Amino acid sequence: MHRPRNRVVVAAQLRCAATTTHPYHPRRETSMPIPLVDLKAQYQAIKEEIDRAMRRVVESTAFIMGPEVSAFEEAFAAYCEAQYAVGVGSGTAALFLALKACGIGPGDEVITTPFTFMATAETISQAGARPVFVDIDPVTYNLNPELIEKVITPRTRAIIPVHLYGQPAEMDAIHEIAKAYGLWVIEDAAQAHGARYKGRRAGSLGDIACFSFYPSKNLGAYGDGGAVVTNNPDLAARVRALRDHGRSSKYIHEELGWGLRLDALQAAILSAKLPHLDAWNAARRERAQRYTEWLADTEIVTPTALPHVEHVYHCYVVRTPRRDEVYQALRKRGIGVGIHYPIPLHRQPAYRDLGYGEGAFPVSERCSREVLSLPMYPELTEEQQREVVEALRELVG
Ligand SMILES: *Cc1c(COP(=O)(O)O)cnc(C)c1O
Repeated sequence: MHRPRNRVVVAAQLRCAATTTHPYHPRRETSMPIPLVDLKAQYQAIKEEIDRAMRRVVESTAFIMGPEVSAFEEAFAAYCEAQYAVGVGSGTAALFLALKACGIGPGDEVITTPFTFMATAETISQAGARPVFVDIDPVTYNLNPELIEKVITPRTRAIIPVHLYGQPAEMDAIHEIAKAYGLWVIEDAAQAHGARYKGRRAGSLGDIACFSFYPSKNLGAYGDGGAVVTNNPDLAARVRALRDHGRSSKYIHEELGWGLRLDALQAAILSAKLPHLDAWNAARRERAQRYTEWLADTEIVTPTALPHVEHVYHCYVVRTPRRDEVYQALRKRGIGVGIHYPIPLHRQPAYRDLGYGEGAFPVSERCSREVLSLPMYPELTEEQQREVVEALRELVG
């Protein structure tokens, strides 16, 4: 699993691709706390646009649905290079509604990764189906397509690949299997706004895709928000109805649905932020490249971005066997590190009844002990990165 050779190659590729290189010099200035994510810095940079958008909604008093939600849906579909986007209450709501729109329910099985946020599997269970886990690839941390076929049964209905940390999953291999067995492919793109796989954007890589606008995501609202994106008009119409009480018009409810709409204030904020997303993602990539260069000669395992994807670095995640110790030491120095994720879902107490034991998914289990997320956001300065790297180098060597 530890692949130093691979890492060096990638670091070298990154160096070749770079327009500038980032020679590492220890910092000179005294240190300030460095957060994992800095939402204040982003607000300060676009305050006028955000304030104007919020005022527009408040003055119009059109708080539920209406023009703000439709305008954002149109802009976000275009951004994803897809036909339809439907605004919903959160990324979790997006996953749940996508599953319901695909007709998934009791007796069905859905294949996904145990190395993800709880919502990916939780929504499968809430839809009445059973999550079936498959281990991840040790280089990308995404669903390992080679392991999928083994767990397919006559009850399998869908596969949910997660584009973890902002790197798209291996979609061609997943589609090949889905096609052979007649399964839906539902993207969990909650961490991958703007990412590309073989030139195509996350959100247009499956039958239906789910986005979260949780505040710290690459495109974040000022509260909860999400979207379902698809090229399938029937699925779009199903989600549109189900998010709003199964309505076909104001007073007609064709079926039972839910109250899981995107609110207008969040839509207006997201519309103001969307034009900046590509620049923010580019800034994340530049910061990722800098970390990777500065850590290349250490025993830290840095991320590998595959050549046919465009990674958007929602998280910049390194690996070390001494993770817990390094995590504590960095926190003590005021460096906001995180762990995504310390317990794979098959080992969560809530999923005890699925019956997966320790050792069921060895790659996920090992990663859950070794991964460490470093501070990553578009406004992160070179000086801050220098401080993070210096602290890491002192600890790991
Ligand atoms: C954030 C996230 C979600 C859930 O999104 P919410 O908006 O918080 O409900 C689902 N899946 C993944 C992989 C996520 O990172």
